[in-house]
Amino acid sequence: MDLHQLTIHQARDLLRKKEISSVELTKAVLARIESVENRVKAVVTLSAERALEDAGKADKALASGENGYLRGIPCLIKDNMCTRGLRTTCSSKMLENFIPPYNATVVEKLEARGMVLLGKTNMDEFAMGSSTENSAFFPTHNPWDIERVPGGSSGGSAAAVAADEAIYTLGSDTGGSIRQPAGFCNVVGLKPTYGRVSRFGLVAFASSLDQIGPLTKDVRDCALVLNAIAGYDPRDSTSVDCPVPDYTQALVPDLKGLRLGVPKEYFVEGMQTEIRDSIHAAIKKLEELGAEIDWDVSLPSTRFALSVYYIIAPSEASANLARYDGVKYGFSYENASSIWDALEKTRQFGFGPEVKRRIMLGTYALSAGYYDAYYLKAQKVRTLIRREFDEAFKKYDALITPTSPTVPFKIGEKADDPMQMYLSDVCTLPVNIAGIPGLSVPAGLPGGLPAGMQILGKHFSEETLLRIGYAYEQATEWHRQKPPLN
Ligand code: GLN
Repeated sequence: MDLHQLTIHQARDLLRKKEISSVELTKAVLARIESVENRVKAVVTLSAERALEDAGKADKALASGENGYLRGIPCLIKDNMCTRGLRTTCSSKMLENFIPPYNATVVEKLEARGMVLLGKTNMDEFAMGSSTENSAFFPTHNPWDIERVPGGSSGGSAAAVAADEAIYTLGSDTGGSIRQPAGFCNVVGLKPTYGRVSRFGLVAFASSLDQIGPLTKDVRDCALVLNAIAGYDPRDSTSVDCPVPDYTQALVPDLKGLRLGVPKEYFVEGMQTEIRDSIHAAIKKLEELGAEIDWDVSLPSTRFALSVYYIIAPSEASANLARYDGVKYGFSYENASSIWDALEKTRQFGFGPEVKRRIMLGTYALSAGYYDAYYLKAQKVRTLIRREFDEAFKKYDALITPTSPTVPFKIGEKADDPMQMYLSDVCTLPVNIAGIPGLSVPAGLPGGLPAGMQILGKHFSEETLLRIGYAYEQATEWHRQKPPLN
C-alpha cells in the first residue's frame, strides 16, 4: 500500500514501530497532492513548508517516546477554521487575505497532539451551499467522477480524504456540510452533538446550528479524531461540560440488543431508486448483525425542516455576517466616495451571490412585522422537530436514513436553481435543527457513484453511532473502495 493511502490507525502503528517517519509520510501525501490536485482542486492554501516542519518536530517527539495517536499524521482543515499565521478565507473574496492572529480551539487541540497541517480546504463561500461550486475561487471536483460535485459545503475536505490528499480532514456542518459531502465522496463524516466540539475560531455561519467534525477513511479514525477535538471550552459558551469518553471503546463488531428505526419521511419522493436500494440493503445488513429493525417509523414534522432551516440559518447568517464592513479586517473597497459608499461596495464586491441571497432572506425574516410570522414561527416548529426526535429516541437507539436523496450530481446541474440545491440536504437538515449527532458512512457505489447511509441518535450518543457505523463497516467493503483517479 502507498503511504498516502494509510488510515490514521495504520499510520500510527507504522510510526510507533519506526517503520516510517512522519517526514516520509508527509512527503508521500504532498506528492499525492501534487499528482491529483489539478483534477480534484480540493485545496485553497497549501502549507507544504509548515507541514514538513511539523513533521520534523513530530519525528523528534516520537523518537523521545511521545507517541500520541495523531502525532505526525498529516491533515487538512476546512478554510473556515482559524489557523494562526495561515490564511483563512472561507473561500470568499471578503477574507481572501485574512491571516488570523489566533487558532481555533480544534486547531489548538490538534496541534497539542502533534498534527502535521498540510493546508486548508475549499468550501462553499462561508459554508453556504451543497456542491462547493459557491467557492469564490474554483469548484472542487468529485474524485469518483471529476465532472461531478463532491457535495458541500465541506467538499474540499471530503474530496481530499477520498483522493488520499490527506490522512484525515476537519469539516463543519450547519445543515449537512460534513455528512452530505462524506456521502458523495465515499468517506466517513460525523456531525457531533451541538456543544460537543468547541466552535471557538470557527467563522460563524448560523451559530445555533454550526458544529465541527471529522472526515476520515474509516470509523475508527473518526473516533480517534473525535477523541481529540471533543470537550468543553470556556471560550465557547455553547460547548457542553460533560466528560469525553474514549470513543474507540465503542467499536465492537456486532449490534446485538440495538433497536433501530427507519423513518419513512426520509425516503422522500423524487429520491433516486439506486439510493433507496443501497440503503435498504445496508439496513438488512444491520439486521444480520443483530440489530432489531422497525421499518415503519414516522417523524411527520420532517417535512417542515427545509423551511425552518431556510428561515433560521439565513437569519443568523445575516447577523453574523454584518461584521464584514471593510473596517476591521478582510476586504475593503478602496475608491469609495463616503463611508456609506465604502460599506456598500465592500459588501457588494466582497460577497458572492449565494451569500447575498442568504443575507437578504435573513434580514427580511428578522425585520419588524415579519419577525413573528417567520423567525418566531420557525423557532416554534424547531421545537416540534426536536421533540419528535426525543420521542423516537425513547424507542430506538438510532435512526437509519440515506445521507442524500441522490448520488453526486454534475457540476453546473443545480447551480442556477437554488431550490434544487437546497433540496439536496433534506435528509441532513433536521439533524442540525434538533442539535443531535449524525454519522454518514459509505454504503454502496451504484453505477460507480457513492451512496451514504446516515445514522442518527439522541444528544451525546456518538458512541452508539460509531458502534453501528463500525459494525457495518467491518461487514462490508465499501469504505475500502478507491476512486478511479490513477
Ligand atoms: N447546504 C446547506 C446550506 O447551504 C448546509 C450548509 C452547511 O451545513 N454549512 O446552508
